[in-house]
Amino acid sequence: MHFIQPAVYLLLSIALVGCTSAPVSGPEKDKTYRITVMHTNDHHGRFWKNSEGEYGMAARKTVIDRIRDDVAANGGYSLLLDGGDVNTGIPESDLQDAVPDFKGMNLLGYQAMAVGNHEFDKPRAVLEMQRQLAQFPMLSANIYEHGERLFAPYKIFNLGGVRVGVMGLTTEDTYKMVHPDHVANVEFRSVIAEATQVVPELRRQADVVIAATHMGHYENGHHGTQAMGDVEMARAVNGIDLVVGGHSQNPACMKAENVLDRAYVPASACTPDRQNGTWIVQAHEWGKYVGRADFEYRNGNFKLVHYALIPVNLKSAPQIPQVAEDPTMLTLLSPYQAFGQRQLGLDIGETDRRLEGERAILRTRPAAMGTLVARAMMEKTKADFAVINAGGVRDSLAAGKITYKDVLKVHPFGNTLVTVDFTGTEVMAYLNVVAQMTPGSGAFAQFAGIRLDIVHGAVTHASLQGLPIESGRMYRLVVNSFQAAGGDGYPPLTNHPSFVNTRFVDADVLRAYIAAHSPLKASDFESNEAVLRR
Ligand SMILES: [Zn+2]
Repeated sequence: MHFIQPAVYLLLSIALVGCTSAPVSGPEKDKTYRITVMHTNDHHGRFWKNSEGEYGMAARKTVIDRIRDDVAANGGYSLLLDGGDVNTGIPESDLQDAVPDFKGMNLLGYQAMAVGNHEFDKPRAVLEMQRQLAQFPMLSANIYEHGERLFAPYKIFNLGGVRVGVMGLTTEDTYKMVHPDHVANVEFRSVIAEATQVVPELRRQADVVIAATHMGHYENGHHGTQAMGDVEMARAVNGIDLVVGGHSQNPACMKAENVLDRAYVPASACTPDRQNGTWIVQAHEWGKYVGRADFEYRNGNFKLVHYALIPVNLKSAPQIPQVAEDPTMLTLLSPYQAFGQRQLGLDIGETDRRLEGERAILRTRPAAMGTLVARAMMEKTKADFAVINAGGVRDSLAAGKITYKDVLKVHPFGNTLVTVDFTGTEVMAYLNVVAQMTPGSGAFAQFAGIRLDIVHGAVTHASLQGLPIESGRMYRLVVNSFQAAGGDGYPPLTNHPSFVNTRFVDADVLRAYIAAHSPLKASDFESNEAVLRR
């Protein structure tokens, strides 16, 4: 217990009075309040502009500051929200645990964000560090740990007398999208059940209710095999004025009622979705846009008067003048960008000779890069064998030093590793499909951990560690997320009961394997007799 000295207490009281000049009793009758909600989502590590000079937090700051100034000059109030998934996607951010991204969000003045599934990509200690770093709440009403909410469910803002409640919600799919260790004891409960409970609670304290969500915007609620998104939630739960969404990474702009404008052109007009009286907005991804929703509040009525998605230096919107990068933000972020670039150029390992990954070779016969990649996948996931499509391996590694940049050329797609536990019978059925992948195509398979005899496209014999596959035994297979989804004609695995998307990113896995096993001996990967074709 801390006791506050009377003199200090007096100072605190004065300070508190000083900053709570806005009335807490609620809005005045017959007065019109202007409230502007700015929003982004699915930032995914894009703190820096891309090589084309598009987006980036420095230009985003210029855009946001202008909107804030414009709103204030017209006697309005603004709120800046994010729909989650700040983490994962750009090596410069990933290898710094998104510290530059959260610091950038602080400088941009974010007031709340929804917790996204990718916030669980790193161990929990990283998420805790990010929570400490963020000068705004990470909200989620439906994430529980040991029966308690892991995050604050909502926060109430007083905007000139209008009390705006912002609640957070997170996709129920999160538990199957992240490493199980990161969500041990964590439950992602029904978003509808939680919202049904929280919205009336918020309504008693607030004049306006906003949901910052990371659940996805699916046209007319057709969410397919994914967990339900904003449309169904808004239909099921009364009393939400606005959903600031994320996760599906699209501009939520409608052509007609329940018809999404799939060909939305940057800088053109955007009509947000509306369900059950709830507006639903989403600003595509990566900070490509800042969404601006101008509302008027009067006598309990919260009316959208104007909406726009404002492109942030997008090349596809050349008619919009480029904005300058904010110098304060550049000063903050430049050291992180420089550090990230330096790290990417550092040696992570070496190889005694060139590791063959030439496209024409990889796609016709076992090649060193195929074996290397497949072994890295096996080691990371403790799988019994690995199958990788040749199209998933994009480059050779030259003799000598290897950098992370070199690894990213091998794996530019950011696929993740997926495992399934197969019976021996399932293994043979899978291999018989895989053995028929046409030589010369990207589908052509490279293997590790397994020895196959393939005669005229049929597997006549398969063994693991010298022992034939037994029909009743269990074997773990690792492939990439592209193959698992049925890409390149591979048998889809996503509906297999044992399907796990580990979310380990392929390039990261290969980098770690090279670092752990250097110096690599090319002959270890060339002398691969995994596959005998006759
Ligand atoms: Zn997401």
